[in-house]
Amino acid sequence: MGQTITEKILDEHLVEGELTPGEEIGIEIDQVLTQDTTGTMVWLQFEALDLDEVQTELAAQYCDHQTYQFDFKNTDDHRFLRSAAGTFGAYFSRPGNGICHQVHKENFAAPGKTLLGSDSHTPTPGGLGQFAIGAGGLDIAVAMGGGPYYVEMPEVVNVELTGELPEWATAKDVALHLLGELTVKGGVGKVLEYTGEGAESLTIPERTTITNLGTELGATSSIFPTDGKTKEWLALQDREDEFVDLAPDEDAEYADTIEVDLSSLEPLIACPSMPDNVVPVSEVAGTDVEQVIIGSCTNGAYEDILPGAKMLEGREVDRKTEMIVAPGSKQASEMLSREGWTAELMAAGVNFSEATCGACIGIGHVPASDSVSLRTFNRNFEGRSGIEDDSVYLCSPEVATAAAIAGEIVDPRDLADDLGDLEAPGFEMGSNYGPGMGRDDPDIIGPDEAVDDDLIKGPNIGDVPLKDELASDIEGEALLKMEDNITTDHIIPATADILKFRSNIEKLSEFTLSRVDDTFAQRALDADGGFLVAGENYGQGSSREHAALCPMFLGVEGVLAQSFARIHKANLFNFGLVPLTIDEETYERIEQGDDVQIVDDVGDGVRSGQEEFTIRVNDDWEATARLDASERERDILAAGGKLSWTKAQHDSG
Ligand code: SF4
Repeated sequence: MGQTITEKILDEHLVEGELTPGEEIGIEIDQVLTQDTTGTMVWLQFEALDLDEVQTELAAQYCDHQTYQFDFKNTDDHRFLRSAAGTFGAYFSRPGNGICHQVHKENFAAPGKTLLGSDSHTPTPGGLGQFAIGAGGLDIAVAMGGGPYYVEMPEVVNVELTGELPEWATAKDVALHLLGELTVKGGVGKVLEYTGEGAESLTIPERTTITNLGTELGATSSIFPTDGKTKEWLALQDREDEFVDLAPDEDAEYADTIEVDLSSLEPLIACPSMPDNVVPVSEVAGTDVEQVIIGSCTNGAYEDILPGAKMLEGREVDRKTEMIVAPGSKQASEMLSREGWTAELMAAGVNFSEATCGACIGIGHVPASDSVSLRTFNRNFEGRSGIEDDSVYLCSPEVATAAAIAGEIVDPRDLADDLGDLEAPGFEMGSNYGPGMGRDDPDIIGPDEAVDDDLIKGPNIGDVPLKDELASDIEGEALLKMEDNITTDHIIPATADILKFRSNIEKLSEFTLSRVDDTFAQRALDADGGFLVAGENYGQGSSREHAALCPMFLGVEGVLAQSFARIHKANLFNFGLVPLTIDEETYERIEQGDDVQIVDDVGDGVRSGQEEFTIRVNDDWEATARLDASERERDILAAGGKLSWTKAQHDSG
C-alpha cells in the first residue's frame, strides 16, 4: 500500500512501534528548537540529566517571547540560555532576532527532517515539508539527549485544495475557513496533509501560515508536499542543497479527506475570543478599531507585511487607530528596509516593533480598555493581549490594513470600491534575500563560535523540582472545578509580570490558575494535595510545561477532566500528575470542595496497566475514571515524572 508524506517521514525515523493510528510510536528527532519562556527549564532539565552535549543533528535556542528586558530576570534568562547553548552545543539566536518559527524556517527547517520544539506552533515549517511537532520542554531535553520522542500515531487527513485564491482572499483565510468548519478541536489526533493543485499554487510563506494555524485546530502537525516553490525558497535562503522531493504515493490512503475550493473563499475574521469563532468580515463591518497589528509567527514574513505596505502607499492610518508592524524576524525587517517599505509604512503612520512575540502574549502594545484590536496573529484567547476584557479579532494582513485605513472593520473589497483606486496587493515573493540574512547572520551564534562554555545562572534561576514515586493512596479535595477549553494561558498566564518568573517555579506557582480563581495557589498549598476538575479539552493552547509543573509544585495529584489537549496531557505525565478522564455525568455531579478518593491502589494500578479506577466522592457516591496511557507513560507516571524516570534509566544504563 502506498504511503502518505507523513508515513514516509515517520517510517524513516521510526525506532519503536508501528504506524497504526492510535498506537504509540517512538521517533528519532533530527532537530530541536526551544524559545526563551520554555528554554530555561529545558536546559535546567538537560543539566539535571547529567548529559554533556546535544545529540541531535541540530538544536536551536531562540529568544523571542520576552525580549524586552525591563527586568534583570529576563536579561539573566537570555544570558543563561546563551551560556547553555554554548556549553551544550546549540545555535543561539539573540533576543530581537525574531520569533523561533520564522527564524527556524529561514535558517534550519529542512524537508523530510523531524523537528521537535518546546512551542506549540513548532509545526510551522510543515509548509516546507518538515515533519514538526510541539512538545513539552522535558521531551525536548530528552530528545536533545538522543532519546526518541513518543507520540500516538496520528490519523493522516488529506486536505485537498482545489482552485486558486481570488483577489483579497489569502492563506490566512484558508486557515480561518478550516477553523470555522472544524473548530479548535477538529485536528486533535491528526496530521493535516495538504495536497492538490490549490496547494501547488501557494508560496512557502503562504503554506507556513496555514501550517502555523494547524495548531489552533489542535492538529499534531500539518504538512505540505515539496515542489519547485520549496526549492526556490530554499535557494533564496542559500540552502538549496537541503531540498528533497516529498509527495504522497498515488495509492496513499488517508483516514479522511477534506476538500477546500480556494476560489470560493472570501476575507474572513475570527471574532473574540476563540480562533474558531469565524465569520465573513462583512458580518462585523463597521466595528470601530483602535489598534491594528500585523506580524507574529503566523503572518510575520516580509511577504506578509508587504501587502499592507502596498495598500498604505500614498495613504494614511486613520487618526483614531494605531497600527503596528511586528515583523516575525530581523530578516523580514531588514528586507522591508532594503526595499524601502519601512519608510513608506512610517510615512503612513505605522509604528514598528522589534521582531518579538511581544504583543501576542500581552508584552507590549496592550489594547486600551473596552477597545477592539485587529491582529494577524493565531490566538485571541480572552486576556492573552494583556487586558482581561479584551476584544481581539484575527484576520489577514489585508483585512487588518483595510481596518487601519478605515478606522473600522471593513471588507477590503468594499473599501476598494469606496476608494476607487485601492488595488488588491496580491502575493509577491521577496527576491532581495541578500547577504547577511543566512546562517552567518551575526544574530545567530553557532556552536563553533560560542561565547560561553559554562552555565551562567542569575539569582532568579532556581532548581527543577522533582516528585516522588506515585503513592498507593491518593485522596484530596476537588480544589477547583473548571469549564471546557481551559487553556494553558488560564493555568499559567504568559504576561510579562508573570513570565519573568519562568525559571523560578516556587514564585511562578503563586500565579497558577489565578485567572480562574486567585485564591487557588494558596488553597492548593494549604490542602497539601488534591485534584483539578475540568470539562472538555483541558490544557489546550501552548506547550507550556509550567502549566503542569506549577500545579505539581503546589501539590496537585491529578486532573479529572472530560478530555485533555494532547501536549498538556503529555506534560501531566511528564510531571507525575495523574490525568483521569471522567464522563459528563460525573463532571456535572462533582463539586468544588468535594473530597475525592481514588479507591484502588493507584501506584500498582498504574504500573499494571489498569485502565479504570473507581473514585469515591465525599464517601457518598462512586464513579469510574479512565486512565488512557501507554506502558511508557505509565512507567513515567509511576516514577514521579519523566525527569526521575529518565535519570533512573541513565543511571541504570
Ligand atoms: Fe510567539 Fe505568539 Fe507565535 Fe507563540 S503564537 S510563537 S507567542 S508569536
